[in-house]
Amino acid sequence: MPVNKERHIIKQLGLPKDSTQNLKRLQLPFPMIIAWDEKVVVTSFLVNPIIHTPLGNVYNQLLEVYDQDEINALRINRFGGCYNYRRKRNSNEWSSHAWAIAVDHDPVKNALAFNDKKASFSKPAFKPLIDVFYSNGFYNLGVESNFDWMHFEYLIK
Ligand SMILES: [Zn+2]
Repeated sequence: MPVNKERHIIKQLGLPKDSTQNLKRLQLPFPMIIAWDEKVVVTSFLVNPIIHTPLGNVYNQLLEVYDQDEINALRINRFGGCYNYRRKRNSNEWSSHAWAIAVDHDPVKNALAFNDKKASFSKPAFKPLIDVFYSNGFYNLGVESNFDWMHFEYLIK
């Protein structure tokens, strides 16, 4: 699958804004836990309006292919963030998180530098998860580049 280029995102969506005012709140069909503070439960988060429907469809469909116990046990409910007004690491380019068109899941088991030998999302139990994201227009950086397996990004047309 092609991946987003910064220049194309800017052309389609404009520069990212240092504000949450242009974002839309996505209500989640199952609660999530903040990956870096597991006492905190998340029932909604802010997304770019362009991914509001497709990402909502992803989570509804995840509840059809996994039950709530599996979602918890597989740590799919570990939320690693969506909107973050920042540049890419070691780069002058904007992170796709600055537009809130990407979401991270379970960054503990899918750390940035992990390859498919270490990242949980490369394992067979997560094939349905990967397929649900792809069928709704998202790609996974681990699948595409074999790093940053936590990262699911919406392909901007
Ligand atoms: Zn990410």
